[in-house]
Amino acid sequence: MTEYRELKQAVIDACLRLEALGYVIGTYGNASARIPGGLIVTPSRVDYHTITPDDMVTVADDGAKLDGHRLPSSETDVHRLIYLARPDVGAVLHTHSFYATALSCLHETVPVIVEEQSQVVGDAIRCAPYVPAGSHEELGHAVAGTIGDSNGVLLANHGVVACGRTVDESLFVAQIVERVCQMYLMTRAISTPVPIPSTHVRSERDRWLYKYGTTADHDGGH
Ligand SMILES: [Zn+2]
Repeated sequence: MTEYRELKQAVIDACLRLEALGYVIGTYGNASARIPGGLIVTPSRVDYHTITPDDMVTVADDGAKLDGHRLPSSETDVHRLIYLARPDVGAVLHTHSFYATALSCLHETVPVIVEEQSQVVGDAIRCAPYVPAGSHEELGHAVAGTIGDSNGVLLANHGVVACGRTVDESLFVAQIVERVCQMYLMTRAISTPVPIPSTHVRSERDRWLYKYGTTADHDGGH
């Protein structure tokens, strides 16, 4: 199937980048992009270095497989239910990156501690309740019910999800989320980090979304 070939390749490229970053090992982790009425998602248990656009799987909003000769990722429901909960999200990446996964074992919320988190992630990084491996739809509901307006969410004792408007943006978010989790662990080891006040989180997020790099952004900055 040739439909969405560029988008499928962009998702594959993101997976290769995640592997290069050390965020996924082997075939752990999965990635998707929204299409009208559904999503395209990485196949289950296929090495990222051998995946071609023809291996990608198309799944409808209701979970039905629409196209593809492979099985969709076993964690497709996580992606599907996030798209249903968050109309602004166009791509979802799920990894087991080291620091985020370490933090997921604490079942805690990571407050907004640095400016790049308020801008790019947009909110605290909450932790979805633990769901035993294999209960994929239950995991999807747990994650979609926890993410709120954030672009990052931890999966207890498991990993992390990063999302964005595009595949490239979600890749950027995944890197910021991992950095934030690393910084949070380091600061917590010494003391208790002081979060950014919520009013400033909102204004920083709005600035990054709508003004950053434009003439509307009068207050200088980066
Ligand atoms: Zn996983």
